[in-house]
Amino acid sequence: MSIMTSNTCLVLSGKGGVGKTTVFSNVATSLAMMGKKTVVIDADLAMANLALAFGFQDKTVTLHEVLAGKAPISDAIYEGPGGVKVVPSGNTITGFQEADPAGMVEVIDYFKSKVDYTLIDAPVGLNEDIILMLPHVDQVMMVVTPDLLSMADAIRMKVIAESFECNIYGAFLNRVNSLDTDKVKAKIEKTLNLKILSVIPDDPNIKIAAMNMVPLVAYLPDSPASIAIMTFAANMAGVDYIPPEKKVGVLQKLLGRLGVSGSENYGPN
Ligand code: ADP
Ligand code: MG
Repeated sequence: MSIMTSNTCLVLSGKGGVGKTTVFSNVATSLAMMGKKTVVIDADLAMANLALAFGFQDKTVTLHEVLAGKAPISDAIYEGPGGVKVVPSGNTITGFQEADPAGMVEVIDYFKSKVDYTLIDAPVGLNEDIILMLPHVDQVMMVVTPDLLSMADAIRMKVIAESFECNIYGAFLNRVNSLDTDKVKAKIEKTLNLKILSVIPDDPNIKIAAMNMVPLVAYLPDSPASIAIMTFAANMAGVDYIPPEKKVGVLQKLLGRLGVSGSENYGPN
């Protein structure tokens, strides 16, 4: 059996509420839907919310029990859309108190030979638990929103993360409203001195998917934020992904070549 070396990514943000859990539950689901073995882990032991993104909030065996030595990691893995593996954290205070964050290193190592991608949703900011994980991950990704506070915190986080000599892959720019996304991206890339990996639009369907506890890419794959995230995931995984609007273009071109107008197939002009 060949041993795969997993691509382990720690996902950080300087500020809460920027969409870290939302974006990465969707990136993980996209990678799984594209055939990559992917696990997403909730390392926010105090304020866990990854479970909710997948509807796993009632699971009694979570990362808390694993880190307390009460359950093997294999018992805390649940399967989401596309076969994505999810390791949620619990919401009880005793669970949090009994969990020993030092065990995260073993959890990370467990997945290294088993999956293509391990994505770790870290707590906000930089704390001892994160510092413990940094030497064991291949790269760090960040999530920022285009507002001053989020960016100021992101710059601070980047400087600290760099001081630990970790490889910062880049940042997701989430909740963008502007029509001129290229201009916003270039400006923020310059401000942060960080590669913007993907610009994700502010998309009201994210809330609808969240209420249904299904990641948007599985719930509404043609929604604008889904397209942005799936495009990123396809690049990351090196697989082909044709966004729906381009699919229409390809089909129309084909129909055009056959001498058939395809416009009536896609609704009124
Ligand atoms: P974090 O994990 O960074 O604290 P969450 O993923 O919990 O943030 O997201 C915070 C809120 O923002 C949630 O209500 C979520 O539905 C919303 N949200 C995140 N990304 C988007 C987006 N691209 N468009 C619209 N709403 C979003
Ligand atoms: Mg979160």
